[in-house]
Amino acid sequence: MTTLTPYQRVMVVVAHPDDMEFGAGGTVARLVREGKEVVLVQCTSGDKGTNRRDLSPEHLARQREEEEQEACCRLGVQQIVFLRLPDGELVPDLAFRERIVRQIRTYCPDIVITHDPFRPYALHPDHRAVGITTIDAVYPTARDPLYFPQHLAEGLEPHKVAELWLFGAQYPDLYVDIEETMDLKLAALTSHRSQISDPVELAQRVRERAAEVGAERGLRYAEAFKVIVLRR
Ligand SMILES: [Zn+2]
Repeated sequence: MTTLTPYQRVMVVVAHPDDMEFGAGGTVARLVREGKEVVLVQCTSGDKGTNRRDLSPEHLARQREEEEQEACCRLGVQQIVFLRLPDGELVPDLAFRERIVRQIRTYCPDIVITHDPFRPYALHPDHRAVGITTIDAVYPTARDPLYFPQHLAEGLEPHKVAELWLFGAQYPDLYVDIEETMDLKLAALTSHRSQISDPVELAQRVRERAAEVGAERGLRYAEAFKVIVLRR
């Protein structure tokens, strides 16, 4: 199988524990297998992700962070940053953008993977907020030194990301073959025990979706992305 990218450093920015696994789990597993460094920025810890009334948000957040750590371990993601912002309350404001820019200037990724905020009728406000804020953080904010100069005073440097990969895209142009990493994607997804009522049904649904995406390019299973190239 050919390598996915010549770049080395990858940052994934998502709203909730399990978003990366659903949107890009097979791709992340491939990137790790190819020796890339992958850091996950987890914006919320999913503290409202339940229909139970007996769970406190704090308890749920702790459980979901443990589940995310297990999922990342299974995928081989080396590092997780938990921003611990409140679930369901993300808005694309400057304070949130500053948090993402700080991570970009800290980890200096070549590729940033996040939610596509431009898909029509994308329903979760956190997904839209993370997507748009991350794109705005990448370009132009993290790149230019007069934005958030306090970062430079702390010793961070402006950073140019090379490519954005957006999952959940209406018009994808990168199809990643995940046949060999489908089992890892499913293993990572099943780490999220608080979110799963029927693991067999989940696996079937995920395989069906990946097969649908793959059929566009004659692949058994695929994940698809809209790629925006910012530097070469
Ligand atoms: Zn989500």
